[in-house]
Amino acid sequence: PVILSARGLARHYAGPAGLVRALDGISLDIQAGELVGIFGPSGSGKSTFLMLAGLLETPSAGEVWLAGERVSQPGTDLDRLREVRRQKIGFVFQKANLIPFLTAAENVALSLELVDVAPAPVLAHGCRLLAALDLSHRADSLPARLSGGEQQRVAVARALANSPPLILADEPTAALDSVRGRQVMQLFRRIAASRGTAVAVVTHDTRSADLFDRRVHLEDGRLATRRQE
Ligand code: ADP
Ligand code: ADP
Repeated sequence: PVILSARGLARHYAGPAGLVRALDGISLDIQAGELVGIFGPSGSGKSTFLMLAGLLETPSAGEVWLAGERVSQPGTDLDRLREVRRQKIGFVFQKANLIPFLTAAENVALSLELVDVAPAPVLAHGCRLLAALDLSHRADSLPARLSGGEQQRVAVARALANSPPLILADEPTAALDSVRGRQVMQLFRRIAASRGTAVAVVTHDTRSADLFDRRVHLEDGRLATRRQE
């Protein structure tokens, strides 16, 4: 099934030299279990696409559908999108941004914000997620004790805490060397395959390009798709 459907998405900004078409009519479907890489030069609209697909902004034109439901279009109230975002989308950024005084397991577990659930089972959930990502041995470590690659893998675990059907990642390997970057990308590959999550990754990392089911290229706010041979 299609998890994310972007339909004619556009976003325009008023600039000093006139209208800036940051995104100029993008239509893109991402299926459950699919790992899609979003490539393109700086300024081509990648971040804007993630902002719209991630329900952090509304489009100037077009629609965002999540799991068969239209959730965002021009004028949609951003406050109403917050709950949808919390339930349906996990985010991973360039920096892990873990809370420094919480252990890895706590960082994962507390993202759930389940105030009415006893801490022990929530923490156990965090530990299970870390175990699934081969990070059991790091569950009780503080972020400062983890390598950059490990921190980013904890951030991926945190994005999975709610079991969202969609993961959006913005340059998740940019701060890592090629070996650690590939490990993180392989983690997305595994998550898509084993959990049926739809994963979209904005990246410049062509060294891991072989891991994607599909690569799309943005240019001047438009899409050029090349299927992997
Ligand atoms: P990328 O992520 O591929 O580098 P962006 O989505 O950040 O591209 O930007 C696409 C275009 O839209 C760029 O020309 C950028 O300057 C412009 N843009 C992005 N956000 C804004 C904004 N808030 N106001 C004006 N122009 C913007
Ligand atoms: P990775 O292959 O996961 O990126 P590294 O090669 O950077 O890990 O580090 C090897 C091991 O040393 C890892 O298990 C990491 O957690 C640990 N380590 C890295 N930095 C520190 C630190 N400052 N204190 C304690 N352990 C650390």
